[in-house]
Amino acid sequence: MADGQWGNCKGCKYFGSHNPQPGGDETSRCMQPELSEFELEVSGDSGCNAWEARAGVAGTATPYTEPAPSSFH
Ligand code: SF4
Repeated sequence: MADGQWGNCKGCKYFGSHNPQPGGDETSRCMQPELSEFELEVSGDSGCNAWEARAGVAGTATPYTEPAPSSFH
């Protein structure tokens, strides 16, 4: 599920809120297919790297960078 970006739940399409623009202190179910089996209750200010943009909300994704192997000496 690593798609290379991280973002907050409030801007994620898997945040199970009916509010079109969820707030950071709102809590809701995470509906991400691989995570929903855990029935996670997450807050808008939570986040993970399975984040995908929620329609109609400006994304807060920041690039998620893995350490490059060449950086280890
Ligand atoms: S835990 Fe991850 S996948 Fe689930 S709503 Fe939050 S950002 Fe989206």
